[in-house]
Amino acid sequence: MRIPLSSPDITDAEIEAVSAVLRSRMLSLGAKLQEFEAACARRAGCAHAVAVNSGTSGLHLCVRALDLKAGDEVVAASFSFVASTNVLLMENLRPRFIEINPQTYNIDVDQIEAAITSRTKALMIVHTFGRPAPMQEILDIARRRNLLVIEDACEAIGASIEIEGREIPVGALGALGAFAFYPNKQITTGEGGGVVTHDERLARRIRAMRNQGRYESADWFEHEELGYNYRLSEINCALGEVQLERLDEILVAREQVTHAYAERLESNSSLYLPPLNEPNARISWFVYVVRLSDDYGIEDRDRIAREMRERGIGCGRYFAPIHLQPFYRRQFGYKDGDLPVTESVAARTLALPFFNRITGAELDEVCYTLQELMR
Ligand SMILES: *Cc1c(COP(=O)(O)O)cnc(C)c1O
Repeated sequence: MRIPLSSPDITDAEIEAVSAVLRSRMLSLGAKLQEFEAACARRAGCAHAVAVNSGTSGLHLCVRALDLKAGDEVVAASFSFVASTNVLLMENLRPRFIEINPQTYNIDVDQIEAAITSRTKALMIVHTFGRPAPMQEILDIARRRNLLVIEDACEAIGASIEIEGREIPVGALGALGAFAFYPNKQITTGEGGGVVTHDERLARRIRAMRNQGRYESADWFEHEELGYNYRLSEINCALGEVQLERLDEILVAREQVTHAYAERLESNSSLYLPPLNEPNARISWFVYVVRLSDDYGIEDRDRIAREMRERGIGCGRYFAPIHLQPFYRRQFGYKDGDLPVTESVAARTLALPFFNRITGAELDEVCYTLQELMR
């Protein structure tokens, strides 16, 4: 794509940090891992962080560490990336999908309680596109109904919420939170993720499961429990360390791009733009997603996206509802129409090119082309 949908912000500092690891010959389980984890924990305001090789691995270990049992139910929004609930299926848990708020695209808190059954054990909360979910209300429900909260913060590193006058980073509000560092995220390790928590016991267990079930004191061939190879290499950690140091600068740049888009598009009454602010919260912008009005259907949206791409402009649908993915339909019997708000939003949303160094001329071209194709 001439104007890509996303592009990681890599400077000489990242290239130098990665080269230094290669020169050191220490490529796994070394100092960079410890430094990167300490920096992640600090940033999330948590005592513990465990780096893993993807956001999905991180979410999977969250589910395992909480000892959820086969058949237990977890309430989740369907408007998310499929990994959010695939990690439930990996453990034979049952997702209970509910709607989103069509303004914020976060889970509709008013629907949570009605979805809770005697088998419900947890809530999977996504901070969609980096906009914090209404955690105060969610934590109140969880406390009242005795449910665990897992935060899928894979799109939201650096976002925070003000609760009782304190600014709390997302990921630090539930029992466990997961971040992701794929190249299209705000910061990247190439591939990678991290789990954060205040709970030392959970952190220890996740650290062991990431490394084949080995606890720190044990020798290399002692496996206390079923584990995985979800380790993150020193190369990735060194990259992540520099990116994390630059996070605030990156978030400012991304926020500026959202304002630049809003200036160019806000006069178009056929477009719903993402609100630039969220009350009592700081957004960490992951993608810039606009929505076509109800006058447009899914075919119009798909045609516009295709023609944008044909003209060299990266453009994508975000998201396809999880409950309508073929294997979710087969396994749980979901069908078209089950979640009308989610399905209507998903049919009309369009992610536009969004990266730190996008130029004014590129923004002009994206916005001009989009509006021309909407006619
Ligand atoms: C990116 C993402 C993930 C998974 O991250 P990977 O690193 O790609 O495994 C999970 N949930 C959401 C909402 C995401 O956007």
